[in-house]
Amino acid sequence: MERLHIAFFGPVNSGKSTLVNAICGQEVSLVSPIPGTTTDPVRKAVEIPGLGPCVLIDTAGLDDVSVLGPERERRTRAILDEADIAVMVVSPEMGQYHQKGGINDGSVPVFGTVPSLIEAADIPVIPSEASVSHIPVVTYHRGESVEELLERIRQAVPTREERFLTGNLVKPGDKVVLVMPQDSEAPKGRLILPQVQVLRELLDRGCIPVCCTPERLQQAMETNPDLVITDSQVFKQVNAAIPASCPLTSFSILLAAAKGDIKTFVEGARAINSLKPGDRVLIAEACTHVPDTEDIGRVKIPALLRRKFCHSERSEESIQVDIAAGNDFPEDLSAYSLIIHCGACVASARLVRARIKKALRAGVPITNYGIAIAALQGILDRVEIPGLGRE
Ligand code: SF4
Repeated sequence: MERLHIAFFGPVNSGKSTLVNAICGQEVSLVSPIPGTTTDPVRKAVEIPGLGPCVLIDTAGLDDVSVLGPERERRTRAILDEADIAVMVVSPEMGQYHQKGGINDGSVPVFGTVPSLIEAADIPVIPSEASVSHIPVVTYHRGESVEELLERIRQAVPTREERFLTGNLVKPGDKVVLVMPQDSEAPKGRLILPQVQVLRELLDRGCIPVCCTPERLQQAMETNPDLVITDSQVFKQVNAAIPASCPLTSFSILLAAAKGDIKTFVEGARAINSLKPGDRVLIAEACTHVPDTEDIGRVKIPALLRRKFCHSERSEESIQVDIAAGNDFPEDLSAYSLIIHCGACVASARLVRARIKKALRAGVPITNYGIAIAALQGILDRVEIPGLGRE
């Protein structure tokens, strides 16, 4: 189940961090009477009764007048792209403020920067209207109990469509081989989130998962599987090792289908063939992480791109690759010929769809790591894509 992203907005020192800490029951954000204590957005994963798995996002005050204020404000506004629900924190000192059922219905005069934030993000303040581009807005008056706020959020939260990562690719009783390299790039002692999610989902759907590393693939194939799901990094190798009749896909493609707009991503991958030396490609990561020397977005995909298109060491004849991590997704995309987005395993579907929208508005094709790798390795037509079948 995807985590519900709840973002807390409000002017400096309105009590956002105190509220987030109170919900979590621990000090997640540093609280102080000094205005502007929260700088970058702070995230905390938490399980909330009646809401399930959530990510609370504490943001910097929007009326920050310090030197760093505009940058903090930019980062705070970017959070609107990933939030499923916005909580506006207001305190009694903030002037005339009314509320109807705790949810701003548009007839409410709201203090200072909050309306401009909503205007800028094109959020209609209608509680029942929840879609990709519209998020419900809930208000919290300082002094109210946390339970009152949570109840208001429960009422306002959009109905979440439960989407299976494996979509229409499996049915109960299917045997599914999961190929998961446990090399230097794999985190020590654990599986990465998409692998855990797919494994759990297959069990829930009554399938019979068989997990293996690429080295044990031949033994796993003796089970005569109905589907093979692989890490994209060994796509080509796995494709070469299994019969052409065996359906094949990747964890990254499953995530792309569940979180993004798979048709747009597949069309974006087709644009790879139109790239020419000197073109700029943006690799967009939804989180910040310390990159490995074999990082898929920073090392492997750029190497595949250069290998496909460039036969010269001269930089002007090479594909230019820029990286944007976390909230640093550029406002101006006009310099790019293609955007390749990560699987967004820890980000909301809303964030990915907002970025797709921005890319399309700028006329820039956008695709995803797994689909791009399949295209770069010439096997896009062979892979299974939930909702689309074999491309
Ligand atoms: S959010 Fe994106 S960059 Fe971060 S770990 Fe997940 S797939 Fe990788």
